[in-house]
Amino acid sequence: MNIQVSYDENSRMVLSGLSCGCGSEHRQMDKDIYVGKGLLPRVPEMIRRRGLGLHCVLVADDTTYALAGRTVHEALAADGFTVVPCVIHREEDVLPDDSACGEVLLSITRDTEFLISVGSGSLTDTTRINAERTGLPFVAVGTAPSMDGYTSAVAPLLHRGVKIQRPAVCPEIIVCDLDIFATAPMPMIASGVGDVLGKYIAIADWRLGEIINGEVYCPLCGELVMNAVNALVENVDEIAVKSEKGIRILTEALLLAGVTIMLIGHTRAVASIEHNIAQYWEMILVQRGVRPPMHGASVGVATLLVWPLFERFAHEDLSGLDIEAIKARRLSRERRAEWMRHAFGAEGGEQIMRDNPEDFLSWEEQLRRIRAAQSRIDDIRAVLRSLPPRETIRRVLQTLNGDLTPQDEQIPEDLLNLSMWCGKDYRTRYTLFKTIDECGLADDYLSAWPYRMPG
Ligand SMILES: [Zn+2]
Ligand SMILES: [Zn+2]
Repeated sequence: MNIQVSYDENSRMVLSGLSCGCGSEHRQMDKDIYVGKGLLPRVPEMIRRRGLGLHCVLVADDTTYALAGRTVHEALAADGFTVVPCVIHREEDVLPDDSACGEVLLSITRDTEFLISVGSGSLTDTTRINAERTGLPFVAVGTAPSMDGYTSAVAPLLHRGVKIQRPAVCPEIIVCDLDIFATAPMPMIASGVGDVLGKYIAIADWRLGEIINGEVYCPLCGELVMNAVNALVENVDEIAVKSEKGIRILTEALLLAGVTIMLIGHTRAVASIEHNIAQYWEMILVQRGVRPPMHGASVGVATLLVWPLFERFAHEDLSGLDIEAIKARRLSRERRAEWMRHAFGAEGGEQIMRDNPEDFLSWEEQLRRIRAAQSRIDDIRAVLRSLPPRETIRRVLQTLNGDLTPQDEQIPEDLLNLSMWCGKDYRTRYTLFKTIDECGLADDYLSAWPYRMPG
């Protein structure tokens, strides 16, 4: 395979060499992604090329309006567009909550033809859900390379104080102006890097899913993501000084992970156990009324946290498993339901079980998986041994002054320990954490994070 990422004369991303015989259906990338310098004044022509109309609502907060929103607004107005600004004022960072989503909704009129978000995660998601609900196309003008969600079609939101995910839509146009991105504060850049580093785990888990459960692994998407992640690791010094090269490499890594979602229609290449754990921290902290760390920063910390388990399993020998003992210690369906309600809350636990009905395994299925793991242990080891050493990953984050440990992020110990046990239960998606659990090795592998369900 020979994937090439290039740009046309308008700084629009062009992907070539996208042939793949993996068996899953591959769609064309049909969105316009622009990466380059001095792009903001050119946003009107990008919108005209795409024919989105002339009436828009521009969503920003005070910071992003000053940083980029005003320039885009003025360029559009000068080019004959009608722009209704929706600048959300908050004392602290804007959260994608009911109130912010409502402000955008009430700015939309019957004349509105498209929406523009100017910002990173929260503002994009606030706009994204409105675009989905109104059927209007939207344009995302990024302001920081802090997370990989620009290309996402799912909106993480806060509804009545509870963290929820809602299906939404991907922007028609994504604009990543490298001059603007280079002004992002270092913690936001470290967060973007953390989000990218998680892809090592996501890809490893995907390949394990292929080995154990016959999932279709797409080598094209795997290569696209791994090339981008490796380039980022090799160029961390460029990122640390925010050189154009460094910021471009980070931006591409964040975007290309999302491009795989467009190509194959799922997020397998993007997120696995490291995202589950990070999202769990965020969900519970929000419930406790605590402002959670940045998404990508938590993903980076969770990646470092789970890494030693992946390294250890690379030396695992499953030949001596005591099958009868594993069977005897299995959770019954009732006990597992109790665990799910305990870990995710009464409502959340029920919801996850409804969404992932096949996640409670019959003994026959568990035994099949154990046998598959035993017979393919060499393949499993090969996947795990292809990961770079943990120290390489740690050094990347350290170079950027990023968070390294759950303590750096003030994750309470009870939450940390529980997350290590329940992260795998967040969704059906196969992960090494399921292998460990299904092979009866969790007590051993997770002994550093003791947790027992009360009762
Ligand atoms: Zn992420
Ligand atoms: Zn493929």
